[in-house]
Amino acid sequence: MSKITKVLIDENKIKERVRELGAEISRDYQGKDILMIGILRGSVIFFADLIREINCNVVIDFISVSSYGASHKTTGEVRMMKDLDEAVDGKDVVIVEDIVDTGLTLQYLKKVLLSRNPNSLKVCCLLDKPERRKVEISSDYLGFTIPNEFVVGYGFDYAQKYRNLKDICVLDPKG
Ligand code: 5GP
Repeated sequence: MSKITKVLIDENKIKERVRELGAEISRDYQGKDILMIGILRGSVIFFADLIREINCNVVIDFISVSSYGASHKTTGEVRMMKDLDEAVDGKDVVIVEDIVDTGLTLQYLKKVLLSRNPNSLKVCCLLDKPERRKVEISSDYLGFTIPNEFVVGYGFDYAQKYRNLKDICVLDPKG
């Protein structure tokens, strides 16, 4: 059993913040083309909303790495499950991630993408749980900092469920 205990960030607050992030990115990349990379699957809802708030030329692509609850939780190992289709060389790249937790996923992704010689590489993350950080890493664009709670909704899942909720909610897995 699992139970949603409360709404942490509601739909309207998310919309407002995503609009602000889009405006910030648009300002920073004025006149440039951006390769926006979504991290499957958690970031897809955020990704879809964010790119529509950006008024630069945007090319999209997706990458998939082993997710929460998989081996990296205990071993610190992150594995690529699906690589990009687009080349990164010489591009202005923005990684769009759902949440930075331990930071291991982002550390791995940055290393992989930097080795492919982008012109620039930045990270836009919806949520940050700094209390659980294992490696020193931060986002260039951040939606919200949250406490150490397990969240679902707006793309976040628990056992692949709840991604379609409009709000970001706290889940008690034992609830
Ligand atoms: P990290 O490598 O930073 O520890 O983990 C990042 C990944 O863990 C995220 O992309 C996300 O898939 C997952 N994750 C971390 N915290 C949460 C959470 O509170 N809820 C959900 N659904 N996934 C989380």
